[in-house]
Amino acid sequence: MNTPSDKALVPFVSVDNMMRLIHHIGVGDMLRDLAEYIESDFHRWELFDKTPRVASHSDVGVIELMPTSDGEAYGFKYVNGHPKNTAEGLQTVTAFGLLADVYTGYPVLLTEMTILTALRTAATSAMVAKYLAPKNSTTMAMIGNGAQSEFQSLAMKAICCVETIRLYDKDRAASEKCAANLAQTGLKTVICTTPEEAIQGAQILTTCTADKQNATILSDNMVGAGVHINAIGGDCPGKTELASGILNRSDVFVEFPPQTRVEGEIQQMDESFEVTEFWKVVTGQTPGRTSDRQITLFDSVGFAIEDFSALRYIRDKVKDTPYHYDLDLLADPDDPRDLFGMLQRAKA
Ligand code: NAD
Repeated sequence: MNTPSDKALVPFVSVDNMMRLIHHIGVGDMLRDLAEYIESDFHRWELFDKTPRVASHSDVGVIELMPTSDGEAYGFKYVNGHPKNTAEGLQTVTAFGLLADVYTGYPVLLTEMTILTALRTAATSAMVAKYLAPKNSTTMAMIGNGAQSEFQSLAMKAICCVETIRLYDKDRAASEKCAANLAQTGLKTVICTTPEEAIQGAQILTTCTADKQNATILSDNMVGAGVHINAIGGDCPGKTELASGILNRSDVFVEFPPQTRVEGEIQQMDESFEVTEFWKVVTGQTPGRTSDRQITLFDSVGFAIEDFSALRYIRDKVKDTPYHYDLDLLADPDDPRDLFGMLQRAKA
C-alpha cells in the first residue's frame, strides 16, 4: 500500500498561502513577473491549443471553464461571474485552477485563483498598455472601483509608471474603499463624482464595472483622440460597457477573436468588424500604437493562456517553499491495475 511519502501528492495553494506568497514577493514585483510570464506566452501563442471558454449561463451569472495546453503542460480555470453577488456579500468573480503534466496527465498544481485572476487580469492590462498607451502616460481613469480596481491601478503603476488614478464608481463607498487601499502605495488618487470628471486629463481609460446588461459607461462624445481604453468589464454575452461609436473610431485589439466576438465589446459589431490579435503586436508582426491621435482599445475578456501563464508562475514560485500543502488528490496504487485491491487494503 502507498505510504504518505510515496503517494503522488499534488501541491495545493490555498487563499491564505496565496496571500502569504504575494506578500513574500511583493505586489508590484509579482505583477511585473506575471506580466513577463504572460508576455512570453503571447510570444508563443501559435503553439497553444486554443478554444473559446466553455460557458454555462444563468439569469444571474455565468460559470466558465477555461482550458489550454502548450503540449507539455495543460491548465484550466474554473471561474464565475455573478454581478448580483456583491449585494449579497459575495464576490462577483471567484476562481480556482489546475495545471497538469501532459505526459502523465497527472495534476502538478491546484490553486486558488480569485486573487490570482485579479493579478493576472491587471498584469495583462498593463502589459497591453505598455505597447498601446500613449508614451509617458501618467494618469488613468478607473471607472468601476470594485474587487479588480486596486490591482488594475497597481499594475499600471508597476509596468507603465502611471502616477495618478482618477476614481469613479456609481457607489461612492467603492471609490472610498479603493482610495483608502491605495493610500500607502505611492499612487495619487482623486475621487470623482461623474465618469466625465474621471476621464479629465487621463491618457488611459479603464472601465471595470459589473452589470449584466449593455451599459454605456463611456459614451462616444466622452472619448477624445489619442487615449488608450482598457475595457475589462464587458466579458459576457449581453454585458458591455462602451457605446458602439467608440469602437468605430478605435483600433481594437483582442485576445482570441472567436471568444471576444461572443463576449467582448465587439459583440455589438458584425463579424466583418476588423480587430487585431494582440499576440501579433507582441511578436512584432503588427504595429501597436502608430500615431498620437489614434484611439487604441483593448477589448479584454480574459483568455485561458493568461491563466496558464499565471499557473506556470505559481508552480515555479511555490516549489520548495512553505506556501502550499500537499493534497492526497490522486488514487495511485503501487500496482496501477489494482485500484480495488488498494481500496480493500485500506479497510483492513
Ligand atoms: P465588483 O462587483 O467587485 O465591482 C464592480 C464595480 O462596478 C462595483 O463597485 C459597482 O458599484 C461598479 N459599477 C457597476 N455599474 C456601474 C456604473 N454604471 N458606473 C460606475 N460603476 C459601476 O466586480 P469586479 O470583480 O471588480 O469585476 C469588474 C468587472 O470585470 C466584472 O464585470 C467582471 O466580470 C470583469 N472581469 C473581467 C476580467 C477580464 O479578464 N476581462 C477579469 C476579471 C473580472
